Amino acid sequence: MIRKGIDYIKSIKSHTPEVYYEGQRVEDVTEHPAFKTPVRTVAKYYDLHWEYDDLRVYNPDVGEETSISFLRPKSKKDLAKIRDGLIKIYDYYRGFFGRSPDYLNLWNMIFYAHSEDFGNHFGSRYKENAIEIYKEATRNDLFYTHAIVAPMYDRSRPPSQWEDPYIQVGVVEERPEGVIVRGAAMISTAAPYAEMLWYLPNIRRDTDTRYALYFSIPTYQKGVKFLARRGFQPREGGEFEYPISSKFDESDAIMIFKDVLIPWDRIIFYKRPELIEDFMWRIIGLRTWFNWHFVIQHYSRLKFLAGLAIAISEASGTSNFINVQEKIGEILIYIALNEAVLTASVENAEELPNIVRPNPYYSIGASHFNMRTVPRANEILRSISGGASIPIPAGIKDFENPEEREMILKYMSMKGLDALERVKLFNLLWDVIGSEVGMRYEQYDRFSRGDPTIRWAQMYSEVYRDKKHEFVKLVREILDQMPNPKA
Ligand SMILES: Cc1cc2nc3c(=O)[nH]c(=O)nc-3n(C[C@H](O)[C@H](O)[C@H](O)COP(=O)(O)OP(=O)(O)OC[C@H]3O[C@@H](n4cnc5c(N)ncnc54)[C@H](O)[C@@H]3O)c2cc1C
Repeated sequence: MIRKGIDYIKSIKSHTPEVYYEGQRVEDVTEHPAFKTPVRTVAKYYDLHWEYDDLRVYNPDVGEETSISFLRPKSKKDLAKIRDGLIKIYDYYRGFFGRSPDYLNLWNMIFYAHSEDFGNHFGSRYKENAIEIYKEATRNDLFYTHAIVAPMYDRSRPPSQWEDPYIQVGVVEERPEGVIVRGAAMISTAAPYAEMLWYLPNIRRDTDTRYALYFSIPTYQKGVKFLARRGFQPREGGEFEYPISSKFDESDAIMIFKDVLIPWDRIIFYKRPELIEDFMWRIIGLRTWFNWHFVIQHYSRLKFLAGLAIAISEASGTSNFINVQEKIGEILIYIALNEAVLTASVENAEELPNIVRPNPYYSIGASHFNMRTVPRANEILRSISGGASIPIPAGIKDFENPEEREMILKYMSMKGLDALERVKLFNLLWDVIGSEVGMRYEQYDRFSRGDPTIRWAQMYSEVYRDKKHEFVKLVREILDQMPNPKA
């Protein structure tokens, strides 16, 4: 089934999760000022499926039409269709709103495609769980959030050594009907207005089995609580001053499990922490898939940022300067590289018996590269707009006062833009490089798939682990051809 926006709104309205905001329990996220913007955008996501035919596809795994983001690619052609559909969605978002429903639809599809692997490692019950969770998600077109990272209590020690071992989510008790979990996750984007959640910890340095479980439950299940961050939404009617915030402000929350019962049929991974890295992230290929999705998000974003840089510099005449051209050229190089990766990641995809997945080296490499390219593009925008990014009349009403309007029309215009267009353009710029939403996105661009230092190092220590010796061999051969001194 593919829903319409209105179906999602009705669903989340009747199943609002337990969200706390400024001392209050939120009654209805669809009406709350901090959440109604993303709720509207998620609704738009569903409606986009009815505006663009290529976002809907007959899905043979469930025998009905679903979102393209649920399709299990069995050929490179399928994978290309998914890529092109996602690019369409993220071009609409201008590369923002990265935790739209399609993100975790992919994860549900991947777990389903690897259900056999879950069965082989954990037993047949887990295989069935991966299948049923996917079918439930596709048939109801459910919106998932997810949480991976433990609260930042003490990064120098694993959670099992913390003063309270249940800051990290852990199993407190096993029962015939499931397990009871307690603890929290640092951040879960979209949680306040999502219908379902995945909890999937990446506990690389902890071998305590109580933490090793992946499960999916409704966000409104008893004992699940969310502490939402302050909303960055603009004041009512702020679309003129904050064009991005008023469309694409996502929300983030701390996820808390207060002795929550997780039924056995909602668990796909249990008690084998040693498998998290190799099985989940490499064999299942989760790292490849989510990084591939990020390349799509950031490809769309870089195109938008290039458009901003070009529009500003051409309107102000700075595009004639070689140093400004060089900076715009830098963003264009990033776009070319991302486009090449998205093409090649499908061309050179891995064709497994159960799924065709994007090329891991390109997808992970490009996504990690973008941890630096996207903030760099923001920095370029700051540099080429100079101090002019700051003194913009306070709001739309300035244009409505005749006395001010006369001055604005004269002094706020640019060589290539009238004053109204110029103010709109610079409001857009500020919402990218200076507003709270802009700053939150920059933090997201750097950190959302892990810390950049660790991720770049991981290219050496893990991603190229089995391939790096090929490069050393190139050096070795030359060394071997060099003469040795006579003994
Ligand atoms: C806006 C935003 C939205 C997000 N949304 C989600 C979401 O929906 N779901 C989700 O699961 N996650 C989400 N993330 C979280 C993201 O997964 C984490 O931020 C990321 O994994 C990095 O972890 P951390 O922030 O705890 O930083 P850390 O990894 O703790 O890094 C903090 C600093 O400490 C250093 N450091 C930490 N450990 C080591 C070490 N062992 N050795 C050397 N240096 C170290 C790092 O280099 C870095 O400078 C989001 C993040 C942001 C910013």
